[in-house]
Amino acid sequence: MKTKVGYKLGILENDKIICDKYWLRVKNDYENPFIYRCKEIGDEFGLSCSEVTRTVEDNAYLAVIDYQCKSCGTAKICYNRAELTSLHSKKWECENCYLKKFHRRLQNSRQERIESALEQRLIEENSYINQLVQFRESQIESVPNLDEIDVVDHYLLVAVISKLATENFRSTTALYDNLGTTLSPFHDLDVKIINRLMRKNLLLVNIENSYILLHAHEECLLQFDLSKMTFDFAYDSGQLKKLIIDSKQSSSKDKLVNSPEYKILCEDIQLNDCINYLTHCSAVNELEIVIGEKIESLLSTCLLRYSVSEIYFIIWKAVKTVSSYSLEFDIDKIIISNLIYDNIQKFHDEIRYKSSENKKHDRDRAHPKSVLNRIFFDEVHGIEDCGFRHTVDDLLKQL
Ligand SMILES: [Zn+2]
Repeated sequence: MKTKVGYKLGILENDKIICDKYWLRVKNDYENPFIYRCKEIGDEFGLSCSEVTRTVEDNAYLAVIDYQCKSCGTAKICYNRAELTSLHSKKWECENCYLKKFHRRLQNSRQERIESALEQRLIEENSYINQLVQFRESQIESVPNLDEIDVVDHYLLVAVISKLATENFRSTTALYDNLGTTLSPFHDLDVKIINRLMRKNLLLVNIENSYILLHAHEECLLQFDLSKMTFDFAYDSGQLKKLIIDSKQSSSKDKLVNSPEYKILCEDIQLNDCINYLTHCSAVNELEIVIGEKIESLLSTCLLRYSVSEIYFIIWKAVKTVSSYSLEFDIDKIIISNLIYDNIQKFHDEIRYKSSENKKHDRDRAHPKSVLNRIFFDEVHGIEDCGFRHTVDDLLKQL
């Protein structure tokens, strides 16, 4: 083994002798190559064995000339005998090269991971786009003929055109982007109507806009964000204008009113009108409430006997009562909702059994009549805001 002792600058003469003796070896004796034992050197200089080793480590090193880093060729440096005797494999790599390679490997594996994640995302995106394209194609194949459109769908489409159509009558704007008069009295009903007309293939998904708003379930089923999406109408502007004109004909109105679904839809509009007012009143009074099936069912029952206008009054009174109560006690939204429920029930019963006067409320200016109210009530019955002032049964009896 070819070696060379190197010294620290300014090494003392005595220390240099110790280092030389420490590293002095017999050629080709691999079992016991060192001429002096540590103890012998120590005895000569009045040092302990460990003091000899420390002196050597601090002042010199042994460069093993024929033991080089396989990557950069740097000779191996030993600071003590243990390091020298532990050299076995010739395939040695210096610390510097080892770290450089490690960092390169790390970078490569990261790059691979980024690339494979990106590739996976592109595959998923392509799958969504394909599904979307297929969905639109299947819609186009199933667009009903103009004279085959279900009568309720016809009037719902007219409402959507009236509220959401763009200037060129080609597509809709998003529900989300609309201010002022609303399509229906309550956001949930707006979404329900858009969903219905999409499923009936009267509104076609706009691929570019939908793609951005598309979510996919884990099973890769399409899930639409209906309040933010825009749609293309399934008909051209001439056909849409014809649908609007037809909706004004008394024969079409008769057909609508005679459809069993008309009554259900009118009841739904009125219920949503009440829910909207309840939400609004509660917010104004800083009450957090939960609107679920229970309260919806109560309002539907009230609507059998009283108009929306009368129920507005009942709601207003119930919310006021609970509001004054909630100022005194710290109660959560479940209890508040239950208290409002109880009070609506109580005021409804009082009016019904004549122990209290039956008053009407006006529309709140912040929530004007919706497009659906105008088309399904006012225009059909020829009475201004009759869906607000009369029950559905009363309106149907007048015909
Ligand atoms: Zn190296």
